[in-house]
Amino acid sequence: MILVVEDEQAINDLIAWNLTMIGHTVLQARTGREARTLFRENAFDLLLLDVMLPDTDGFSLYRDMRTVPAIFVTALGETRDKVKGFELGADDYLVKPFETQELLMRVNAVLRRTLRMEDRYSFDDIEVDFHAKTVTKGGQIVDLTAQEFSLLEILIRNRNIAVSRQQILRDAWGITFFGETRTIDVHVQRLRKKLGLDDQIKTVYKCGYRFEDRR
Ligand code: CA
Repeated sequence: MILVVEDEQAINDLIAWNLTMIGHTVLQARTGREARTLFRENAFDLLLLDVMLPDTDGFSLYRDMRTVPAIFVTALGETRDKVKGFELGADDYLVKPFETQELLMRVNAVLRRTLRMEDRYSFDDIEVDFHAKTVTKGGQIVDLTAQEFSLLEILIRNRNIAVSRQQILRDAWGITFFGETRTIDVHVQRLRKKLGLDDQIKTVYKCGYRFEDRR
């Protein structure tokens, strides 16, 4: 889930709409006050913080929210502000006006970077240990082939983001030629069946798959 903090309604809506279109859940705040309330009541994966806000500035706001990755969004493209953002631990910086495509790429890049660092992941009664490469369901070990495990790992580490079949071949299986992508579909079917993840692993039309985790 992503929190968008931006006082200009049109820009806030535009950002939120674009992120929603690629499958993210988004909450919107227009002031620091609204942002703090939402931050207390929800668990976010990423914050998009406008620097100039009516009641505070994005940098001050982020001092209390540093447990979550952030991208600062601002019209001030000055080096001084960038340095300040990065000193606070910002993950990226976006200068207005920006292209939608650039926004989406940066958001996905930050999410991928932060998700990749996890050692473990759990969902319902499923526990995945990326280090030991084991999966349990309801406390019982589930037997996965190495290929199935890599597939599951890439889907989880990119959760809520569509992963293309080419990306699965290349990043999960280390196959650099565009081979038989139907093999992936077969493996996905097996994975869904073994783990009971029919509802979580969505097929994305003309692209690949997306692991949904909307908690
Ligand atoms: Ca502003």
